[in-house]
Amino acid sequence: MSRQRPRKPLLCRTHLHHKWMTEHTEDGESFMRCTRCGTDRPEVDNGDFGGKNLGAGLAGMGGGGG
Ligand SMILES: [Zn+2]
Repeated sequence: MSRQRPRKPLLCRTHLHHKWMTEHTEDGESFMRCTRCGTDRPEVDNGDFGGKNLGAGLAGMGGGGG
């Protein structure tokens, strides 16, 4: 009988850092989710993240700079 209490890492609890990983929903939508605490990354307008819309580049646009 172990307590089912999801303990979040300190960085996650303090919202200082999350380990985002690309997940896909049933609809095929891609979103970022923290692999540590399972928090979904809120959509932000500012491109704080490195690359933006990585999937968009993959769709179509055959060839070109990878
Ligand atoms: Zn987290």
